[in-house]
This record gives sequence, structure tokens and C-alpha cells, in this order.
Amino acid sequence: MLYQLSEKIFALEAQGKKITKLNLGEPDWRPSEKVAEAARSALALGKDRYASAQGELALMEKIAEIHGCKPENVVVTLGSKWAIYATIALTLKQGENAVTFSPNWPAYASMYRQAGGTLKTVELKQENNFTLDLEQLEKTIDEKTRLIILNNPSNPTSRAFSDKEEQAVLDIANKNRLRVLFDDAYRDLLFKPRKERPIGEYFTACSFSKTFGMTGWRAGYLIAGKDFVKKMVAFNQITLTNVPQFVQAGALEALEEKDTIARQARKTCEERAELAQRILGRKFNVPMPDAGFYVFPKINSDAIEFAKLLLKKGIAITPGQAFGNYPENIRISLTANLEELKMALEKIVEAKIQK
Ligand code: PLP
Repeated sequence: MLYQLSEKIFALEAQGKKITKLNLGEPDWRPSEKVAEAARSALALGKDRYASAQGELALMEKIAEIHGCKPENVVVTLGSKWAIYATIALTLKQGENAVTFSPNWPAYASMYRQAGGTLKTVELKQENNFTLDLEQLEKTIDEKTRLIILNNPSNPTSRAFSDKEEQAVLDIANKNRLRVLFDDAYRDLLFKPRKERPIGEYFTACSFSKTFGMTGWRAGYLIAGKDFVKKMVAFNQITLTNVPQFVQAGALEALEEKDTIARQARKTCEERAELAQRILGRKFNVPMPDAGFYVFPKINSDAIEFAKLLLKKGIAITPGQAFGNYPENIRISLTANLEELKMALEKIVEAKIQK
């Protein structure tokens, strides 16, 4: 269904139609010139050879400094997607499962299937502002569960869970002898920034894609215990070999500038979220997001039909069905400048499905 929709978008674009694409998880800002220059300089210095499957030492040291851990706790990956997939592949045996909260990023379920397991979800309710349902989490865990995944802040809701809620999830995991994987892809885009989580007996996957606009660079990393890092390095050696050194040089520069870049990205996201809330709020219930660039309003009609209707008006969004049992929600990525976004949001508010 989703692939049909994206094929349709490509076909319309091929016909020369202008589509405002609010359907992607890709920010419209780009890496800074200094980041690009760092990668170019590394290339000029011949940093394009086979390299360490764990990562470049300078980058791992910087990551360790930021997270308060040691380089031996860090492994640099091809986007955080690889950090997540490799963690799943290395913690799961055939027939086992993980639990996450929905609505959720659809890739988790596909990754689990690929690794021979299943993903169970605990459905969070819009009526409760997508508050974590810890009771249901406990009920969903069974003897085959190995991992809990917590994406905080969440794609698609942009809802952030508190440190206390994270601790409650960790407590449940400890009680059941499970590990937790924190997916922090959007953490640096929290409108109220938080300190890094103290290092502990869990996995943390981080991304350069969102905050730094480096989606195509494929840079991310995992923080984990040193024995797990060793396993992951061995896995990297037989699969991706290494993240290109020149990409890591750009990633290091991004971290050097992190405070400035993240502040600007957060400001951009917050302005857009306020605009979305103002315009969409005229018709839908749109809580103010806690972070990032998604809103996930309930539109009270079928989301796939609504997506088709919007596409006719030149706007692409993602129907809620992509993220679980949310047939009347749509995910709007606020990934256009304020002017274009305003026009698109007005059209979304005016669009009506003929019943
Ligand atoms: N986690 C979540 C929740 C995401 O939405 C995404 C990308 O959309 C990723 C992880 C992976 O991002 P990347 O592999 O580009 O770091």
C-alpha cells in the first residue's frame, strides 16, 4: 500500500507535477559546509581505504566524550539503521521476539522478520496522548522476548517519554532479564534538550541523519557494553567492513559543531511545529510535539483515502496504517520551509473526503 503510494509520487513527479513531499523522514536542511569540507579534505588525504570495522579513533573518542563512556563502548555504523539491525541480529535467535510501543517506525518489524523473529507491539492511544502503557508492556512480554525497543522521542508522534518513564521500562526489562535498545534518532531534536543518558546495561542507537541533515552519508553509531561491541565489530567485518573514513571525518566535524547545529535544527523544528499546531488545530486535535519534525493528527476518516486525495492536490503525507493500527491518523513531516508548509497545511485542513 505504502509502496504503491510512493510509486505514484515518483510517477507524478516524472510527469512534471510539483509535489510537496511531507511524507519522508528526511529533513530539508543539509550538512554544514564545514562538514562537507572535512569529508573532502579526508578524501584528498587518501582516507578512502579499508579501515577499522569499529570506527575511526578520533570519532569514537568524540562520541565517548559526549556520552561519558569509553571508545571501547562505541561502534560506528552505516546510519543508526545498521546499529539497530545488527543489535537485533546479534541478540535474537530464531523464533524469539522483541516488544516495542506503537505507533512505531515500520522498519523494526521488517528487521525482526529478516532476523527470523517477530516484533510485538503495545498499542499506545491518542486519547491518552500516547502515554507509555507499562502494564500492557509487562503483559506482552513472554518467555521468548529478548529485547524492548524504545524510540524516544517517537517517530511518528514526536512524543517524548520522560527519564522516569525510561527508568520504568528499564526496571521491567531487568525484572524479566531483557535488554533495552534506545533508539535516539531524534533525541538531539528535543525542544527541551536533555543530558545524555548515563551509560548502563543497555544499547543506544544514534544517528547523524536527522539533526545534521546527513541522511545520505549513512553515519550512525551504537553505544553498548564492550563485549557486545566486540561482537558487533566482528559482524561489521563480515558485512559492511567499515563506514567510509571520509564519511567519519564529516561526522566528526558535525559533532564538533553539534551545539550550534542542533540549536538551529531545534529552532527550525519548533517554529514549524507551532505553525502546524496553529493551522491543523483549527480542525484536528494536534498536541504540540516535544521534538523533531513530525505531527500525527487524527483526521477521523480513512488515512489512505485521505493520502490519495491530498496527492491529487500535490501534497504527499504518510497514512497512519504504516505505523500500526492507526487507520485515521496521518503523519505529516514538517520538512519544507515555512511558506511552502503553510500552503500545504492550509490545503490539508481544507481537504474533505466525499462520503
Ligand atoms: N530510527 C527511527 C525511529 C527512524 O525514523 C529512522 C529513520 O527514519 C532511523 C532510526 C534510521 O535513521 P538512519 O539510519 O538514517 O540513522
